[in-house]
This record gives sequence, C-alpha cells and structure tokens, in this order.
Amino acid sequence: MTPHFVIAGGGVAGLTTALALHAVGFERVTVVEAARELRPAGAGLNLMPGAVRELDALGLLAALESGAALRTRELRYYHRSGALISREPRGLGAGYRWPQLSVHRAHLQQVLADAVRDRLGPAAVVPGVRVAGVELPGGGRPRLRLVHRDGGRRGRASMEPDVLIGADGIRSAVRAALHPGETGPVWNGMLVWRGVSRLPAAAIGSFMLIAGDDRQKAVVYPMTRPPRPGGQVLVNWALARPAEGAPEERLLGDWRRDVPVETFLHHFEGWEFDGVSIPRVLRAADTAQEYPMVDRDPLDRWSHGRTTLVGDAAHAMYPIGSNGASQSVVDARALAHALACHPDPAEALRAYEAERRPVTTALQQANRRLGPEVVIDLAHRRAPHGFTDVHQVIPAEELAAIAGRYAASGAFDPATVNQGSPYGPPCLPARAPRAVAGPVTFA
Ligand SMILES: Cc1cc2nc3c(=O)[nH]c(=O)nc-3n(C[C@H](O)[C@H](O)[C@H](O)COP(=O)(O)OP(=O)(O)OC[C@H]3O[C@@H](n4cnc5c(N)ncnc54)[C@H](O)[C@@H]3O)c2cc1C
Repeated sequence: MTPHFVIAGGGVAGLTTALALHAVGFERVTVVEAARELRPAGAGLNLMPGAVRELDALGLLAALESGAALRTRELRYYHRSGALISREPRGLGAGYRWPQLSVHRAHLQQVLADAVRDRLGPAAVVPGVRVAGVELPGGGRPRLRLVHRDGGRRGRASMEPDVLIGADGIRSAVRAALHPGETGPVWNGMLVWRGVSRLPAAAIGSFMLIAGDDRQKAVVYPMTRPPRPGGQVLVNWALARPAEGAPEERLLGDWRRDVPVETFLHHFEGWEFDGVSIPRVLRAADTAQEYPMVDRDPLDRWSHGRTTLVGDAAHAMYPIGSNGASQSVVDARALAHALACHPDPAEALRAYEAERRPVTTALQQANRRLGPEVVIDLAHRRAPHGFTDVHQVIPAEELAAIAGRYAASGAFDPATVNQGSPYGPPCLPARAPRAVAGPVTFA
C-alpha cells in the first residue's frame, strides 16, 4: 500500500506540494482546504528563477506564461524624490536559465489547482474543510480533527494519514500543534495596501519599480503584455507605510480586507518615477486590500515524526524580495524529493527540514532588515532631498554587494540556480499503481 499524504491548505505551497508528490510517484494525496472553493484571490507575486525552474520541472511553465504572467526583465529602485538609485536586469537578462515571472496570484493558483485536478483527480482536493486540531503521537501517524465549513449535520471527521503536511498559511493550525506555546504573527507596525489596475502600457513602463524613503514605499509592475498596440495591461501595486493605530489581532495575516483607494492615496500624491505616476496607477484600481505587514518568528523545528510544514506555515516572511511564494514552491519540491529518497517518512522530513530551514530562516531574518530594499533607506538617510548621481551617495560596489548578499542568502544566485534542479529523478521509487486518495467521510 502506498502511503497516504494529507496536505492541510490549498494555497500555492499546498497545491505545489501535491503536484511535486505526484511527480515523484505518490498518488494518494489529499488536500484539505478551509475555503469553500479554491477561489483565486490576491494581487501580484514575483516568482524568482529558482522557483520558476521547479515549476518548469513540474511541466507548468507554458500554462503559467499563457495567462496573467510576464517575464520580469528589469528592477529599478528609486528615491521618493524621483532620483534613480539602481537598475538591474532580472531573470534571463541577469544570466539565469529561467525567467523571473510577475504573475497574478489568482492565475498561479488556478494553474496549480487545474493541474492537481487533472493529475490527481477531482477528489484530491477537499474544499470547505478546516483542520481544527492535530494530535501528534510519538512515532505514530498524526491524527487530524476536521470540521466541515457547513458544520451541523455534516459536522466533523478525523483522518490518520501516513504523513501530514501543514501548508495552511501564516496562521497554521498544524504549526500550532507542533508549537503549542507559540505566539501568533509578528506585526512590524506597517500597513500594506495591494491591488491591481488596468492601464495603457505606455503609462507603466516595462520594469518593476520599488521606490520610497525611510518611511513609505511603493512597488509597481506590469503582469501582462498589451493585447494589441495601445491596449491596456494588468498592473500590480503594493504600498507600505506606518499604521496610525494597531490593527485587531484577527486581521493579522488576513489578505481579504477590502478598503477604498482614497483611504491612503493622499500619502502618495506627487510620487512619479520615470513617467510612472503612482496616483494614476491607484486611481485606475477597482479596489485595494489592506494587510498589516506580518511575519512569523523563525522556528527551531518544523517536523515532528510524520508531520511537517511548508510555505508560510513554516516560514512566513515580510513581503520583501519576492520570496514568499518562491520559497514555498522550492519547499514543495524539496519535500517530495526527500520523501522519494528516504523510505522512512520521519527521516525524509528531517532531511527536508535540514536542507530548507536554514535557507528560509536566513531570508526571514534578512527581510526583517529590509532585504535588498535597504538601498532605498540608505539613499534617503544619506541624501534626504534627492541626488543626481547615486554613486556619490552609494558607491556602485556597495549597491552590488547588497543585492549579491541577499541572493546568496537565499541560494538563488545565477550560478546556483543554473546548475539545474537538485530535485530530479535519482531516488524515484517504483511507480505504484494508481490508487484513489483516501476519502474524507463526515459523520
Ligand atoms: C487570499 C490570499 C491572497 C494573497 N494575496 C497575496 C498577494 O496578493 N501577494 C502576495 O505576495 N502574497 C499573497 N498571499 C500570500 C502568498 O500566497 C503566500 O505568501 C505564499 O504564496 C505562500 O503560500 P502558502 O500556500 O504557504 O500560504 P497561503 O497562500 O496563505 O495559503 C494557505 C491556505 O491554507 C488554507 N488554510 C488556512 N488554515 C487552514 C486550516 N486550518 N485548514 C485547512 N486549510 C487552511 C487557506 O485558506 C489557504 O488557502 C495571499 C494569500 C492568500 C491566502
């Protein structure tokens, strides 16, 4: 009998894990998702070349690039005065064998969900079911308490999979079971507003921009090409500034809170960078989501016996440096590879954690120090009113060292990524006959 894997959470990490397990020959995989349906939501994400490499290995790159996704070719940092701090090529232009992608999270989620249904069957995803509790016996199988969203008649159920993977996001129930005394998401005092606008391509440029000062920041990038000359493109934007009061605890980690653009637009009046006007971008949006900027403290352990964590459940980090979703994709592949290589699941989870936890911990810590965006703060501290030549403010070597250190801390520098996926076939087990995923039966 092949092992049965249960994945708590059908976000980017959970769905990619299901596909990665399938790719190494495991077919009894059940994704339990709290939301009633796998409804695509959110704004834009950037997928770094190392993550795109893994999605390519899963056969998803063509599908990704056929929708709301665009190769990120250049990143520019600006001081809020409009002065350019630096511009760097990204993806193929930076020497990677895979592109960096600016992608709508909804599109990414849809591509992953479609592939899971095609490859593992429609029963592989069980929506509307929340993991309400987890018991972790010594070396035995974890026991999950599940609650159907509709409650009442269909009520509750339990499961005892061979392996439990917590992919249930920043407020993970699986993590809470592994670390019962832990406090929740850590807020850094900033609010983030995110949204998507439609604008003529000429109003937006073809680069990703990150601009600001030591207080507030703006990130803007296109996610599509115009369908015809002069047509409109889909633009992702995210703005951050200190909050005026503390948000309620329940809002920490909630991506779904809509607010009108007018709530914060006035803080960004006059912000313009090589023709990209932030107020114009904001006025073209239907709505915005407000999100307190939170992460989680790095953990000293992700696994216990046959249970482990992936994605935000393991290492939620501040949305800096395009790493939240990218690292989740790499986790998924590393975990599946470890499970294929080690017959003992507990040993596999230890090997996975030993590889991934140090890398993601370094990124969590780097993001708390602003990651590569620290160049904006540096420029502002040294020349608060702007400058004409950035190299009089930050020498070229210092700029290059900051970007290089960050890439190296996440092992996503070109030399490492270009070696190809380390999660290829050498340990593939004999492919088991197709089995139906273990059903969830509600009392
Ligand atoms: C609705 C939404 C919108 C987002 N929008 C953006 C965005 O615009 N830009 C950006 O950079 N990042 C966004 N993110 C975060 C980004 O997707 C993640 O940082 C990254 O992709 C890692 O994904 P993850 O799968 O680990 O976590 P998540 O994407 O948070 O997915 C976790 C999943 O687990 C489910 N879940 C939670 N608790 C339980 C439970 N107890 N039982 C079962 N299921 C559970 C959730 O419903 C969710 O589907 C968003 C996340 C969400 C949930």
